[in-house]
Amino acid sequence: MKLSVVSPVYNEEGNVIELHKQILASLTLLKKKNKISDFEIILVNDGSKDKTLEIMKTLNPVKIVNLRRNFGQTASMDAGIKSATGDVIITLDADLQNDPADFELLLDEMAKGYDVVCGWRHKRKDSFSKKFISRGAKMLRKFFVDDGIHDSGCTLKAYKRECFDNIDLQGEMHRFIAAILRWEGFSITEIRVNHRPRTSGKSKYTWKRTIKGFVDMISIWFWRKYSARPLHIFGGLGMAAFVFGVALTVLAFLVKFFLHVSVSYITLFNFGLFFCTAGIVSFTAGMISDIAIKTYYKTEHIRPYNIKEVIDIS
Ligand code: UDP
Ligand code: MG
Repeated sequence: MKLSVVSPVYNEEGNVIELHKQILASLTLLKKKNKISDFEIILVNDGSKDKTLEIMKTLNPVKIVNLRRNFGQTASMDAGIKSATGDVIITLDADLQNDPADFELLLDEMAKGYDVVCGWRHKRKDSFSKKFISRGAKMLRKFFVDDGIHDSGCTLKAYKRECFDNIDLQGEMHRFIAAILRWEGFSITEIRVNHRPRTSGKSKYTWKRTIKGFVDMISIWFWRKYSARPLHIFGGLGMAAFVFGVALTVLAFLVKFFLHVSVSYITLFNFGLFFCTAGIVSFTAGMISDIAIKTYYKTEHIRPYNIKEVIDIS
């Protein structure tokens, strides 16, 4: 079994050497114990502005994926994963907060038959504000995209290669990989892993990433629920709005000609017209999305489902 270790690196000049050292030590030990037959270390330089790249070039063995500019953690993970050739891929942060000594735990758990093993930083060494935001985000996530694990944000995870056959990571989606894979039908588990304080360099986490993460969450929720049938939500909403609009319009006429109540029939009528129009617009949007999504699945050769294997007995 070949193992690929992938780490996104952005302005981590004070960490890369030690990171590589610790990864290599862990991999060498795994090889000695015959738990892996071969390995590769993939470091993705995400447009670092310090000496990170120069330092990376002094390491050995290493495969450097050098991005043209800073694309963000998710994109750099995607780039690293796509250039991985191993049967199993382990991702981890480059800031030494994740511990390469945990690789063995991940692999042992995977050997029990799981497709994905997630690290759970049960004793997280981060600032209070970060843990606080993280807690809030977790509650929201539970509601919208439940992945069934404690710590979606932990980069230290092990995946079987085929997990990524169907997936492009974008935006701030690295936190939702487990959720996406769970919907695809992969088996997922978690284990407690070590977490260390950041001793060199700065955290790149900002409130902007929190907002992007929120938007991504809504997008993933929508995609999972309605991507195969957008007409259900737009058409459903549209029809409800239309019926409501018709009812208001009828009420407006009743008020004008039959009922003698002090309600402005003009206002009712306007509201009625508004809801009818909104209904038609929403329904039309639904039909257009339906066409768009069908075209998407056809041209991209992407299927809204995931086949594990085809067993042909004859
Ligand atoms: N990172 C990256 N590109 C970015 C921001 C971060 O590749 O634009 C890397 C960073 O070098 C680190 C990992 O992603 O290896 C996690 O980043 P960081 O430690 O700053 O985030 P935190 O752990 O504070 O959430
Ligand atoms: Mg960190």
